[in-house]
Amino acid sequence: MSMDQTHDVNLSSWVDGANEHADFPIQNLPFCCFVQGGESKIGVGIGDWVLSVAEIVTLLDSKFHAAVTSDNLKTMMGWSPADRLAFRQRISELLSDGNDELQGNDALRNAALLRQTDVQFVLPCSIGDYTDFYASVYHATNVGSMFRPNNPLLPNYKHVPIGYHGRASSIVMSGADVRRPHGQLSPDAEGGNPNFGPCKLLDYELEVGFFVSQGNELGSQISIDDADDHIFGYCLVNDWSARDIQKWEYQPLGPFLAKSFATTISPWIVTTEALAPFRSPAMVRPNDDPQPLPYLSSDANTAGGLIDLNLVVSIQSEQMRADNIGPTELSRGSFLNMYWTPAQMVTHHSVNGCNLAPGDMMASGTVSGQSRGSRGCLLELTWDGEIGNPVPGTQRTPIQLPTGEERRFLADGDRVVMEGFCERSGHRRIGFGRCEGTILPALY
Ligand code: MN
Repeated sequence: MSMDQTHDVNLSSWVDGANEHADFPIQNLPFCCFVQGGESKIGVGIGDWVLSVAEIVTLLDSKFHAAVTSDNLKTMMGWSPADRLAFRQRISELLSDGNDELQGNDALRNAALLRQTDVQFVLPCSIGDYTDFYASVYHATNVGSMFRPNNPLLPNYKHVPIGYHGRASSIVMSGADVRRPHGQLSPDAEGGNPNFGPCKLLDYELEVGFFVSQGNELGSQISIDDADDHIFGYCLVNDWSARDIQKWEYQPLGPFLAKSFATTISPWIVTTEALAPFRSPAMVRPNDDPQPLPYLSSDANTAGGLIDLNLVVSIQSEQMRADNIGPTELSRGSFLNMYWTPAQMVTHHSVNGCNLAPGDMMASGTVSGQSRGSRGCLLELTWDGEIGNPVPGTQRTPIQLPTGEERRFLADGDRVVMEGFCERSGHRRIGFGRCEGTILPALY
């Protein structure tokens, strides 16, 4: 994952508008799947366009043909790191200023370059397994303070990357509406009986997702040195959460129906290769924190295990849409606030011999930092910070919307929008596009 000519800040593209695009200049080249004429295809993002790679097979090495003409990204995710790199370099070459193999072929160019607004994005593949981690120590401490005032951060947290097996079937593409779930809701008073009905404390969680590339055999392990090579790329994830269901059900086995009703992902997968210029050191642990066990430690992970990825969450209520008011910002976070790195999550996931496979998805857990403005969910954002402030019936500081509306949790019609971008001096900014979803009222 070293840098090469594809990252050159001076590299430019002949594609209209690509060089000025905030998210998708030629240095990015993220993957997506989209539907065109009833068929699902693989695309690469460039400016406001999607390059339909199946249309340009004649310009690609024959070893890539099966994967690029597939209706999803799973075959491509299973490529070796060397093939992924060769493919990126070839796409970069074809879209670069001065190359006329595609630019000079009117028929091919017109067939291959589609406006993003003219296609419908779909999931990158059928996601086999989905695991959600809990990697921000700030999020874990804040939530722990609310749910377990006497015991906020459990003693295992700094030793083991905590995660749970999520539900892959309810992962939906950005833009899909999300129905407010029903469930058993936490009792109004400690020791009381649960309520049943539509969730009243609906929340989002700002997360970073990543897709497994090559997997491992059942019984084998992925070492920390190899783990980043097993990550195909990254996307934005909204882990919608029903806090009143969660509070009642989460002990002793962890989240279940509070999370499994929907998870939204962004259409674009920004590749591990594209993110090479933005690698950053793993979090420096305070002196009295335990160091990671040897199987979770490497010099490369310490030096570059995280990605300098900025994340922004905005909200737009139904009233705001009616008044033509755009989404208003709720928080701004950084992926540098993770206590555990993606490589540590992958390695830990496989240390017991659990087999990972191309197309599996993992998510980081809520990305929250130390400051109030960097908290990645409403549970934390509207919490007044007092230890032991329980969830139901609590005093919470509401978010003020430009319409005069207030939010402690999500209301029907609210649209949550997540965005992410990497910026570093000497490099071209690249972005992740948008991950958004709108809350529909409960069904009955
Ligand atoms: Mn989560």
